[in-house]
Amino acid sequence: MKNIDTVSLSEKRVLLRVDFNVPIDKNQNILEEERILAALPTIRKLISDQAKIIIISHLGRPKGRDLSLSLKAVATRLSSLLRKNVLFSDDCISEKNNLIISGMSAGDVLLLENLRFYKEEKEGVVEFARKLAAYGDVFVNDAFGVSHRKHCSVYTIASFFPKNKYSGYLLNNEINFLEKAVLNPKRPLTAIIGGAKISSKIEVIKSLLNKVDNLIVGGGMAYTFAKSMGGSIGNSILEEDKINVALEIIQIAKRKNVNLLIPLDSVNAKEYKNNSENYISKISHIDDGYMGLDIGPESIKLFKECINRSNSIIWNGPMGVFEMDNFSNGTKLIAKAICEQTKAGAFSIVGGGDSVAAIKRFNLHKKVSYISTGGGAMLSYLEGEILPGVTALKSSFE
Ligand code: AMP
Repeated sequence: MKNIDTVSLSEKRVLLRVDFNVPIDKNQNILEEERILAALPTIRKLISDQAKIIIISHLGRPKGRDLSLSLKAVATRLSSLLRKNVLFSDDCISEKNNLIISGMSAGDVLLLENLRFYKEEKEGVVEFARKLAAYGDVFVNDAFGVSHRKHCSVYTIASFFPKNKYSGYLLNNEINFLEKAVLNPKRPLTAIIGGAKISSKIEVIKSLLNKVDNLIVGGGMAYTFAKSMGGSIGNSILEEDKINVALEIIQIAKRKNVNLLIPLDSVNAKEYKNNSENYISKISHIDDGYMGLDIGPESIKLFKECINRSNSIIWNGPMGVFEMDNFSNGTKLIAKAICEQTKAGAFSIVGGGDSVAAIKRFNLHKKVSYISTGGGAMLSYLEGEILPGVTALKSSFE
């Protein structure tokens, strides 16, 4: 995979795919601009190279043209971040785009309207990719968050640039950090997997069992594990049909000599409410009428000891309902332990929507080695999938 530092892009029309899929309200206010900020290094580099930059992105899940999901507000925000006027076209496929582009000077930036106003984008339709590709001499992909999809603008389009396709800085960083965590990690390597359900993470867990020395399981999914071992889990979140999967994971871990850590105790509440009456019990002895919403102090101690012995740490998914203060302690203390171990020299990577939200809530996000911007793409990578958007950049045409 070639990156943008390896080529001179002066005066070239560069078609740049970014991930500007930011949360936006009905009045077009951008609620979180992290993804815009993450694309700035590549955009700034292309401006300083004096390229003509045509940016493409998706936003949300529109069904056809839906102006509540227009990228116009992003163009305005990008203008102020770059301190230069960013042109905007209200249709990503249009004759008038050719006119706008031919009028662009070196260093100019144009943002095209939401790619997903066309259903062809997600369907990977070649003709749609061909039309987009015609806007550029060079293709740069910096949209790590969508690189696990075979969509036109990250996958199909690359075949129209057999010799002129590059990765941007963000995509490059993500891949480099993930490779560092997974391909050749400093051992012991520990993965911490939490979140609500096993079902969404079975493949990741199974794949990680081939790579890690320690696997810590927390969050809602831990209760299905506790149940599979014969515990009483009261009203805690349970995936009845995944009890066998939990048992299988326990068996695989044994066979592969992976140290699998499941919570010992649990903070239990009567209701799914912050102020609900709560008490701590062994995870296998939760009273009827109560649900486990966080890991307890013994689990925290056990998990911390493991983190403190680790040289590489991958974290995906909270240990409890961190959104409620009374059940955020487990997630907070595990996040802190990861940060302390990072300070002591370990490599740590955090990804997946909710663990990123959690670590930010505790204001610890600057204390880990890397925060992945693409939750789904990171999970796909950890599952051992080859990311189509990355393969497309690497294809044998080079
Ligand atoms: P996921 O998207 O699968 O990573 O799940 C994240 C969500 O899991 C967060 O919103 C947490 O509130 C939730 N969660 C974590 N632990 C529990 C639990 N013990 N019971 C119910 N939900 C939980």
